[in-house]
Amino acid sequence: MPSIKQLLGAVTFAAATAWSQQYDLLLKGGHVIDAKNRISAVRDVAIKDGKIAAVAADIPATESVKTVNAVGLYVTPGLIDIHVHVYAGTGEKASYAGDLSLYPDGFTLRNGVTTIADAGSSGWRNFEDFQDRVINRSRTRVLAFLNIVGHGMRGGRYEQDLNDMEAKPTAEMALKHKDVIVGVKSAHYTGPEWAPYEHAVEAGKIASIPVMIDYGSNRPERTLYDLVTKVLRPGDIYTHCFSGLRDEQDPSGGPSKALIDGRKRGVIFDAGHGGGSFSWRVAAPIVKSGFLPDSISTDLHVGSMNTGMKDMLNVMDKFLALGMSLDAVIAKSTWAPAREIQREELGHLSVGATADVAVLRLRNGAFGFVDMHGARMDGTQKLDCELTVRAGKVLYDLNGLTRERWDKLPAGYGPQGDPRWDGYSRAPRRPAAPKTQEK
Ligand SMILES: [Zn+2]
Repeated sequence: MPSIKQLLGAVTFAAATAWSQQYDLLLKGGHVIDAKNRISAVRDVAIKDGKIAAVAADIPATESVKTVNAVGLYVTPGLIDIHVHVYAGTGEKASYAGDLSLYPDGFTLRNGVTTIADAGSSGWRNFEDFQDRVINRSRTRVLAFLNIVGHGMRGGRYEQDLNDMEAKPTAEMALKHKDVIVGVKSAHYTGPEWAPYEHAVEAGKIASIPVMIDYGSNRPERTLYDLVTKVLRPGDIYTHCFSGLRDEQDPSGGPSKALIDGRKRGVIFDAGHGGGSFSWRVAAPIVKSGFLPDSISTDLHVGSMNTGMKDMLNVMDKFLALGMSLDAVIAKSTWAPAREIQREELGHLSVGATADVAVLRLRNGAFGFVDMHGARMDGTQKLDCELTVRAGKVLYDLNGLTRERWDKLPAGYGPQGDPRWDGYSRAPRRPAAPKTQEK
Protein backbone atom coordinates (compact mmCIF):
# COMPACT_ATOMS: atom_id res chain seq x y z
CA MET A 1 0.00 0.00 0.00
CA PRO A 2 1.49 3.36 -0.92
CA SER A 3 2.34 5.69 1.95
CA ILE A 4 0.81 9.13 2.29
CA LYS A 5 4.12 10.55 1.16
CA GLN A 6 4.12 8.40 -1.96
CA LEU A 7 0.55 9.40 -2.73
CA LEU A 8 1.39 13.07 -2.27
CA GLY A 9 4.37 12.55 -4.51
CA ALA A 10 2.09 11.07 -7.18
CA VAL A 11 -0.35 13.96 -6.86
CA THR A 12 2.50 16.47 -7.18
CA PHE A 13 3.75 14.66 -10.27
CA ALA A 14 0.26 14.76 -11.77
CA ALA A 15 -0.01 18.49 -11.03
CA ALA A 16 3.40 19.14 -12.53
CA THR A 17 2.50 17.35 -15.73
CA ALA A 18 -1.09 18.59 -15.95
CA TRP A 19 -0.10 21.41 -18.28
CA SER A 20 1.04 18.91 -20.89
CA GLN A 21 -1.99 16.60 -20.53
CA GLN A 22 -4.07 18.37 -23.08
CA TYR A 23 -6.22 15.29 -23.91
CA ASP A 24 -8.75 13.39 -21.80
CA LEU A 25 -8.39 10.03 -23.54
CA LEU A 26 -5.85 8.65 -25.98
CA LEU A 27 -6.47 5.48 -27.99
CA LYS A 28 -2.93 4.49 -28.87
CA GLY A 29 -1.60 2.22 -31.57
CA GLY A 30 -4.88 0.94 -32.99
CA HIS A 31 -5.66 0.49 -36.68
CA VAL A 32 -7.99 3.37 -37.55
CA ILE A 33 -10.63 2.80 -40.24
CA ASP A 34 -12.26 6.10 -41.16
CA ALA A 35 -13.85 5.94 -44.61
CA LYS A 36 -14.69 9.63 -44.85
CA ASN A 37 -11.09 10.64 -44.25
CA ARG A 38 -9.73 7.70 -46.27
CA ILE A 39 -7.68 6.39 -43.37
CA SER A 40 -6.97 2.70 -42.90
CA ALA A 41 -3.71 2.66 -40.98
CA VAL A 42 -2.24 2.60 -37.49
CA ARG A 43 -3.02 5.94 -35.85
CA ASP A 44 -3.40 7.42 -32.40
CA VAL A 45 -6.73 9.08 -31.64
CA ALA A 46 -6.94 11.75 -28.95
CA ILE A 47 -10.18 12.95 -27.39
CA LYS A 48 -10.81 16.17 -25.48
CA ASP A 49 -14.07 17.62 -24.14
CA GLY A 50 -16.17 15.04 -25.95
CA LYS A 51 -14.64 15.75 -29.36
CA ILE A 52 -11.97 14.19 -31.54
CA ALA A 53 -8.95 16.40 -30.82
CA ALA A 54 -6.20 14.78 -32.89
CA VAL A 55 -5.54 11.81 -35.16
CA ALA A 56 -1.85 11.26 -35.84
CA ALA A 57 0.86 8.66 -36.25
CA ASP A 58 2.30 9.27 -32.79
CA ILE A 59 0.72 11.21 -29.97
CA PRO A 60 2.76 10.82 -26.76
CA ALA A 61 0.93 9.15 -23.88
CA THR A 62 2.20 11.91 -21.60
CA GLU A 63 -0.18 14.30 -23.37
CA SER A 64 -3.29 12.49 -22.16
CA VAL A 65 -4.84 12.01 -18.75
CA LYS A 66 -5.74 8.45 -19.76
CA THR A 67 -4.21 6.27 -22.44
CA VAL A 68 -5.59 2.99 -23.79
CA ASN A 69 -3.28 0.53 -25.50
CA ALA A 70 -5.18 -0.26 -28.70
CA VAL A 71 -2.39 -2.19 -30.43
CA GLY A 72 -3.91 -5.06 -32.40
CA LEU A 73 -7.39 -3.50 -32.26
CA TYR A 74 -9.44 -1.54 -34.78
CA VAL A 75 -10.50 1.99 -33.93
CA THR A 76 -13.52 3.10 -35.92
CA PRO A 77 -16.23 5.74 -35.78
CA GLY A 78 -19.09 4.69 -33.50
CA LEU A 79 -21.25 2.31 -35.54
CA ILE A 80 -24.52 3.59 -37.02
CA ASP A 81 -27.45 1.18 -37.33
CA ILE A 82 -30.23 2.83 -39.35
CA HIS A 83 -32.83 0.08 -38.96
CA VAL A 84 -33.94 -0.77 -35.41
CA HIS A 85 -37.16 -0.80 -33.40
CA VAL A 86 -36.84 0.81 -29.99
CA TYR A 87 -40.26 2.29 -29.15
CA ALA A 88 -40.48 0.19 -26.00
CA GLY A 89 -42.34 0.79 -22.79
CA THR A 90 -45.90 1.54 -23.85
CA GLY A 91 -47.11 -1.88 -22.77
CA GLU A 92 -48.92 -2.47 -26.05
CA LYS A 93 -48.88 -6.16 -27.02
CA ALA A 94 -47.83 -7.37 -30.49
CA SER A 95 -46.85 -3.83 -31.46
CA TYR A 96 -43.58 -2.22 -32.54
CA ALA A 97 -44.87 0.79 -30.63
CA GLY A 98 -44.71 -1.49 -27.60
CA ASP A 99 -43.68 -5.02 -26.72
CA LEU A 100 -41.93 -5.87 -30.03
CA SER A 101 -39.47 -3.01 -29.52
CA LEU A 102 -36.40 -2.95 -27.24
CA TYR A 103 -34.82 -0.31 -25.06
CA PRO A 104 -31.68 0.52 -27.02
CA ASP A 105 -28.76 0.84 -24.61
CA GLY A 106 -28.50 -2.87 -23.79
CA PHE A 107 -28.12 -3.81 -27.46
CA THR A 108 -26.17 -0.93 -28.94
CA LEU A 109 -23.23 0.11 -26.75
CA ARG A 110 -21.90 -3.42 -26.30
CA ASN A 111 -21.74 -3.62 -30.09
CA GLY A 112 -19.90 -0.38 -30.70
CA VAL A 113 -23.13 1.20 -31.92
CA THR A 114 -23.45 4.84 -30.84
CA THR A 115 -26.22 5.98 -33.21
CA ILE A 116 -29.40 4.21 -34.26
CA ALA A 117 -32.41 5.18 -36.31
CA ASP A 118 -35.74 3.71 -35.32
CA ALA A 119 -37.37 2.56 -38.57
CA GLY A 120 -40.93 3.79 -38.32
CA SER A 121 -42.11 2.29 -35.06
CA SER A 122 -43.89 5.60 -34.42
CA GLY A 123 -45.88 7.88 -36.69
CA TRP A 124 -46.80 11.54 -36.32
CA ARG A 125 -49.52 10.74 -33.76
CA ASN A 126 -47.22 9.02 -31.26
CA PHE A 127 -43.72 10.24 -32.13
CA GLU A 128 -43.57 12.67 -29.21
CA ASP A 129 -44.50 9.89 -26.79
CA PHE A 130 -41.65 7.80 -28.26
CA GLN A 131 -39.33 10.77 -27.90
CA ASP A 132 -40.26 11.22 -24.25
CA ARG A 133 -40.11 7.51 -23.37
CA VAL A 134 -36.96 6.48 -25.20
CA ILE A 135 -35.14 9.04 -27.33
CA ASN A 136 -34.61 11.54 -24.52
CA ARG A 137 -33.72 8.86 -21.97
CA SER A 138 -31.13 6.84 -23.88
CA ARG A 139 -27.38 7.17 -23.86
CA THR A 140 -27.30 5.89 -27.43
CA ARG A 141 -28.06 8.65 -29.94
CA VAL A 142 -31.55 7.69 -31.11
CA LEU A 143 -32.83 9.13 -34.40
CA ALA A 144 -36.03 8.13 -36.14
CA PHE A 145 -37.78 7.48 -39.42
CA LEU A 146 -41.38 8.54 -38.93
CA ASN A 147 -43.91 6.03 -40.23
CA ILE A 148 -46.22 7.35 -42.94
CA VAL A 149 -48.94 5.66 -40.86
CA GLY A 150 -49.96 8.18 -38.21
CA HIS A 151 -50.17 5.48 -35.53
CA GLY A 152 -46.87 3.86 -36.55
CA MET A 153 -46.28 0.10 -36.40
CA ARG A 154 -49.07 -0.85 -34.03
CA GLY A 155 -50.21 -3.86 -36.03
CA GLY A 156 -52.28 -4.69 -39.10
CA ARG A 157 -55.38 -2.75 -38.19
CA TYR A 158 -53.32 0.45 -38.23
CA GLU A 159 -50.67 -0.38 -40.78
CA GLN A 160 -53.15 -1.28 -43.52
CA ASP A 161 -55.31 1.82 -43.01
CA LEU A 162 -54.84 3.99 -46.10
CA ASN A 163 -56.77 6.81 -44.41
CA ASP A 164 -54.05 7.20 -41.77
CA MET A 165 -51.20 7.70 -44.27
CA GLU A 166 -51.09 11.47 -44.56
CA ALA A 167 -48.08 13.28 -45.96
CA LYS A 168 -48.79 16.70 -44.47
CA PRO A 169 -48.94 15.95 -40.72
CA THR A 170 -46.07 13.48 -41.16
CA ALA A 171 -43.89 16.14 -42.80
CA GLU A 172 -44.94 18.74 -40.22
CA MET A 173 -43.87 16.49 -37.34
CA ALA A 174 -40.59 15.74 -39.14
CA LEU A 175 -39.89 19.44 -39.58
CA LYS A 176 -40.81 20.16 -35.97
CA HIS A 177 -38.21 17.62 -34.80
CA LYS A 178 -35.53 18.03 -37.45
CA ASP A 179 -32.92 17.28 -34.81
CA VAL A 180 -34.02 13.64 -34.49
CA ILE A 181 -36.34 12.74 -37.39
CA VAL A 182 -34.18 11.70 -40.32
CA GLY A 183 -36.68 10.10 -42.71
CA VAL A 184 -40.11 8.66 -43.46
CA LYS A 185 -40.84 4.93 -43.39
CA SER A 186 -43.38 2.71 -45.05
CA ALA A 187 -43.64 -0.88 -43.89
CA HIS A 188 -45.70 -4.04 -43.98
CA TYR A 189 -48.29 -2.88 -46.49
CA THR A 190 -50.09 -5.80 -48.09
CA GLY A 191 -52.46 -4.08 -50.53
CA PRO A 192 -51.99 -3.46 -54.27
CA GLU A 193 -52.06 0.35 -54.03
CA TRP A 194 -49.15 2.70 -54.57
CA ALA A 195 -50.61 5.20 -52.10
CA PRO A 196 -48.44 4.34 -49.04
CA TYR A 197 -45.24 4.85 -51.03
CA GLU A 198 -46.47 7.93 -52.86
CA HIS A 199 -47.55 9.56 -49.59
CA ALA A 200 -44.25 8.65 -47.92
CA VAL A 201 -42.30 10.22 -50.80
CA GLU A 202 -44.56 13.29 -50.69
CA ALA A 203 -43.82 13.71 -46.96
CA GLY A 204 -40.12 13.17 -47.66
CA LYS A 205 -40.20 15.88 -50.33
CA ILE A 206 -41.88 18.42 -48.03
CA ALA A 207 -39.45 17.72 -45.18
CA SER A 208 -36.39 17.20 -47.46
CA ILE A 209 -35.61 13.81 -45.96
CA PRO A 210 -35.30 10.32 -47.45
CA VAL A 211 -37.89 7.56 -47.21
CA MET A 212 -37.13 3.99 -46.20
CA ILE A 213 -39.25 1.21 -47.66
CA ASP A 214 -40.02 -2.21 -46.22
CA TYR A 215 -41.96 -3.34 -49.26
CA GLY A 216 -44.52 -5.53 -47.45
CA SER A 217 -46.26 -8.13 -49.60
CA ASN A 218 -44.98 -8.82 -53.09
CA ARG A 219 -47.76 -7.62 -55.45
CA PRO A 220 -47.80 -7.80 -59.24
CA GLU A 221 -49.76 -4.50 -59.27
CA ARG A 222 -46.75 -2.68 -57.80
CA THR A 223 -43.49 -4.27 -58.85
CA LEU A 224 -40.15 -3.69 -57.17
CA TYR A 225 -38.84 -2.50 -60.52
CA ASP A 226 -41.40 0.30 -60.69
CA LEU A 227 -40.84 1.21 -57.03
CA VAL A 228 -37.10 1.77 -57.40
CA THR A 229 -37.12 3.21 -60.90
CA LYS A 230 -40.27 5.38 -60.80
CA VAL A 231 -41.68 6.03 -57.32
CA LEU A 232 -38.60 6.42 -55.14
CA ARG A 233 -36.18 9.29 -55.49
CA PRO A 234 -32.40 9.01 -55.63
CA GLY A 235 -31.33 8.79 -51.98
CA ASP A 236 -34.43 6.93 -50.87
CA ILE A 237 -33.69 3.65 -49.12
CA TYR A 238 -34.88 0.15 -49.96
CA THR A 239 -34.29 -1.97 -46.83
CA HIS A 240 -34.34 -5.81 -46.54
CA CYS A 241 -32.49 -6.02 -49.86
CA PHE A 242 -31.32 -9.63 -49.29
CA SER A 243 -34.66 -11.17 -48.30
CA GLY A 244 -35.42 -12.52 -51.75
CA LEU A 245 -39.11 -12.12 -50.96
CA ARG A 246 -39.80 -9.35 -53.45
CA ASP A 247 -37.87 -10.01 -56.64
CA GLU A 248 -34.51 -8.74 -55.37
CA GLN A 249 -32.87 -11.74 -57.02
CA ASP A 250 -32.64 -12.60 -60.69
CA PRO A 251 -33.47 -16.26 -61.53
CA SER A 252 -29.78 -16.63 -62.43
CA GLY A 253 -28.92 -15.90 -58.77
CA GLY A 254 -27.49 -12.41 -59.09
CA PRO A 255 -29.20 -9.09 -58.41
CA SER A 256 -32.45 -8.48 -60.30
CA LYS A 257 -32.78 -5.73 -62.89
CA ALA A 258 -34.64 -3.76 -60.22
CA LEU A 259 -31.58 -3.69 -57.95
CA ILE A 260 -29.24 -2.88 -60.83
CA ASP A 261 -31.37 -0.13 -62.38
CA GLY A 262 -32.46 1.20 -58.95
CA ARG A 263 -28.84 1.62 -57.95
CA LYS A 264 -28.07 3.35 -61.25
CA ARG A 265 -30.77 5.86 -60.34
CA GLY A 266 -29.26 6.44 -56.91
CA VAL A 267 -31.71 4.44 -54.80
CA ILE A 268 -29.99 3.06 -51.68
CA PHE A 269 -30.02 -0.66 -50.85
CA ASP A 270 -29.81 -1.40 -47.12
CA ALA A 271 -29.36 -4.82 -45.51
CA GLY A 272 -32.02 -4.67 -42.72
CA HIS A 273 -31.35 -8.28 -41.64
CA GLY A 274 -34.20 -8.73 -39.14
CA GLY A 275 -35.90 -12.01 -38.33
CA GLY A 276 -37.03 -12.65 -41.90
CA SER A 277 -35.01 -10.55 -44.30
CA PHE A 278 -31.57 -12.08 -44.83
CA SER A 279 -31.14 -15.32 -46.71
CA TRP A 280 -27.77 -16.86 -47.58
CA ARG A 281 -29.12 -18.20 -50.87
CA VAL A 282 -30.00 -14.64 -51.83
CA ALA A 283 -27.16 -12.67 -50.24
CA ALA A 284 -24.29 -14.99 -51.16
CA PRO A 285 -24.73 -14.96 -54.96
CA ILE A 286 -25.75 -11.28 -55.07
CA VAL A 287 -22.76 -10.12 -53.00
CA LYS A 288 -20.40 -12.47 -54.84
CA SER A 289 -21.55 -10.93 -58.12
CA GLY A 290 -20.28 -7.60 -56.80
CA PHE A 291 -23.56 -6.03 -55.71
CA LEU A 292 -22.78 -4.99 -52.12
CA PRO A 293 -25.26 -3.40 -49.73
CA ASP A 294 -24.96 0.38 -49.48
CA SER A 295 -25.42 0.12 -45.71
CA ILE A 296 -25.46 -2.63 -43.12
CA SER A 297 -28.26 -2.59 -40.55
CA THR A 298 -29.86 -5.03 -38.15
CA ASP A 299 -33.65 -4.50 -38.04
CA LEU A 300 -33.24 -5.22 -34.33
CA HIS A 301 -36.45 -6.02 -32.50
CA VAL A 302 -37.82 -8.64 -30.11
CA GLY A 303 -38.54 -11.02 -32.96
CA SER A 304 -35.06 -10.82 -34.49
CA MET A 305 -32.67 -10.42 -31.56
CA ASN A 306 -32.27 -14.14 -30.80
CA THR A 307 -32.72 -15.59 -34.29
CA GLY A 308 -30.15 -15.71 -37.11
CA MET A 309 -29.72 -12.01 -36.43
CA LYS A 310 -27.92 -11.46 -33.15
CA ASP A 311 -26.67 -7.91 -33.18
CA MET A 312 -24.87 -5.36 -35.35
CA LEU A 313 -21.48 -7.06 -35.19
CA ASN A 314 -23.01 -10.41 -36.14
CA VAL A 315 -24.54 -8.82 -39.24
CA MET A 316 -21.20 -7.21 -40.10
CA ASP A 317 -19.46 -10.58 -39.57
CA LYS A 318 -21.79 -12.09 -42.17
CA PHE A 319 -20.54 -9.68 -44.81
CA LEU A 320 -16.94 -10.50 -43.85
CA ALA A 321 -17.86 -14.16 -44.32
CA LEU A 322 -19.15 -13.24 -47.79
CA GLY A 323 -15.72 -11.90 -48.66
CA MET A 324 -16.16 -8.17 -48.13
CA SER A 325 -13.12 -6.38 -46.76
CA LEU A 326 -13.12 -5.11 -43.18
CA ASP A 327 -12.64 -1.57 -44.52
CA ALA A 328 -15.79 -1.89 -46.66
CA VAL A 329 -17.81 -3.45 -43.84
CA ILE A 330 -16.84 -0.63 -41.47
CA ALA A 331 -17.56 2.04 -44.10
CA LYS A 332 -21.03 0.60 -44.67
CA SER A 333 -21.71 0.66 -40.92
CA THR A 334 -20.44 4.22 -40.29
CA TRP A 335 -19.92 6.83 -42.98
CA ALA A 336 -22.32 5.34 -45.57
CA PRO A 337 -25.38 5.26 -43.26
CA ALA A 338 -24.47 8.72 -41.89
CA ARG A 339 -24.72 10.11 -45.41
CA GLU A 340 -27.92 8.18 -46.14
CA ILE A 341 -29.67 9.86 -43.22
CA GLN A 342 -28.07 13.23 -44.06
CA ARG A 343 -26.06 13.33 -40.83
CA GLU A 344 -22.63 14.03 -42.25
CA GLU A 345 -21.38 15.22 -38.88
CA LEU A 346 -21.50 11.53 -37.84
CA GLY A 347 -19.68 8.40 -38.95
CA HIS A 348 -16.11 9.69 -39.04
CA LEU A 349 -13.20 10.67 -36.80
CA SER A 350 -12.43 14.13 -38.15
CA VAL A 351 -10.88 16.56 -35.68
CA GLY A 352 -13.75 18.49 -34.12
CA ALA A 353 -16.33 15.71 -34.63
CA THR A 354 -18.22 14.38 -31.61
CA ALA A 355 -16.06 11.60 -30.16
CA ASP A 356 -18.27 8.59 -30.89
CA VAL A 357 -15.78 5.75 -31.26
CA ALA A 358 -15.80 1.96 -31.36
CA VAL A 359 -12.73 -0.13 -30.54
CA LEU A 360 -13.15 -3.55 -32.11
CA ARG A 361 -11.22 -6.80 -32.00
CA LEU A 362 -11.17 -9.04 -35.07
CA ARG A 363 -10.90 -12.64 -33.93
CA ASN A 364 -9.82 -15.46 -36.20
CA GLY A 365 -11.27 -18.91 -35.67
CA ALA A 366 -14.16 -21.13 -36.66
CA PHE A 367 -17.50 -19.35 -36.50
CA GLY A 368 -21.01 -19.99 -37.80
CA PHE A 369 -23.53 -17.46 -39.04
CA VAL A 370 -27.21 -18.19 -39.41
CA ASP A 371 -29.78 -16.70 -41.80
CA MET A 372 -33.55 -16.12 -41.63
CA HIS A 373 -34.29 -19.73 -42.55
CA GLY A 374 -31.86 -21.16 -39.98
CA ALA A 375 -29.24 -22.04 -42.59
CA ARG A 376 -25.60 -21.65 -41.53
CA MET A 377 -22.58 -20.24 -43.30
CA ASP A 378 -19.16 -20.90 -41.84
CA GLY A 379 -16.72 -18.06 -41.39
CA THR A 380 -13.25 -17.47 -40.02
CA GLN A 381 -13.55 -13.93 -38.65
CA LYS A 382 -15.62 -12.37 -35.91
CA LEU A 383 -15.73 -8.85 -34.53
CA ASP A 384 -15.94 -8.20 -30.80
CA CYS A 385 -16.49 -4.81 -29.25
CA GLU A 386 -13.84 -3.89 -26.69
CA LEU A 387 -14.75 -0.29 -26.05
CA THR A 388 -17.51 2.12 -26.93
CA VAL A 389 -17.01 5.84 -26.51
CA ARG A 390 -19.99 8.15 -26.89
CA ALA A 391 -19.31 11.91 -26.94
CA GLY A 392 -15.95 11.27 -25.29
CA LYS A 393 -17.30 9.12 -22.45
CA VAL A 394 -16.45 5.45 -22.16
CA LEU A 395 -19.87 3.77 -21.96
CA TYR A 396 -18.76 0.19 -22.55
CA ASP A 397 -15.44 -1.44 -21.75
CA LEU A 398 -15.52 -5.23 -22.13
CA ASN A 399 -12.13 -6.01 -20.62
CA GLY A 400 -11.53 -2.91 -18.54
CA LEU A 401 -9.00 -1.46 -21.00
CA THR A 402 -9.53 2.00 -19.53
CA ARG A 403 -9.59 0.82 -15.90
CA GLU A 404 -6.81 0.57 -13.33
CA ARG A 405 -5.85 -2.80 -11.86
CA TRP A 406 -7.54 -3.21 -8.49
CA ASP A 407 -4.31 -4.01 -6.64
CA LYS A 408 -2.62 -0.87 -7.98
CA LEU A 409 -5.27 1.38 -6.46
CA PRO A 410 -5.04 2.76 -2.93
CA ALA A 411 -6.40 0.41 -0.28
CA GLY A 412 -10.08 1.04 0.33
CA TYR A 413 -10.48 2.39 -3.20
CA GLY A 414 -13.96 3.45 -4.19
CA PRO A 415 -15.96 6.56 -4.67
CA GLN A 416 -16.40 7.45 -1.00
CA GLY A 417 -14.97 10.89 -0.50
CA ASP A 418 -12.14 10.44 -3.00
CA PRO A 419 -12.29 13.26 -5.53
CA ARG A 420 -9.80 11.47 -7.77
CA TRP A 421 -12.03 8.45 -8.18
CA ASP A 422 -13.29 8.20 -11.74
CA GLY A 423 -15.48 5.13 -11.50
CA TYR A 424 -18.12 4.30 -14.03
CA SER A 425 -19.97 7.30 -15.30
CA ARG A 426 -23.52 7.00 -14.17
CA ALA A 427 -26.79 6.68 -16.01
CA PRO A 428 -28.72 9.91 -16.54
CA ARG A 429 -30.09 11.26 -13.30
CA ARG A 430 -33.47 9.87 -12.43
CA PRO A 431 -36.36 12.35 -12.48
CA ALA A 432 -37.91 13.22 -9.14
CA ALA A 433 -40.25 10.53 -7.86
CA PRO A 434 -43.88 11.24 -8.69
CA LYS A 435 -45.87 12.66 -5.85
CA THR A 436 -47.81 10.08 -3.87
CA GLN A 437 -51.46 10.25 -4.71
CA GLU A 438 -53.59 11.58 -1.90
CA LYS A 439 -56.26 9.28 -0.66
ZN1 LIG B 1 -38.00 -3.09 -39.33
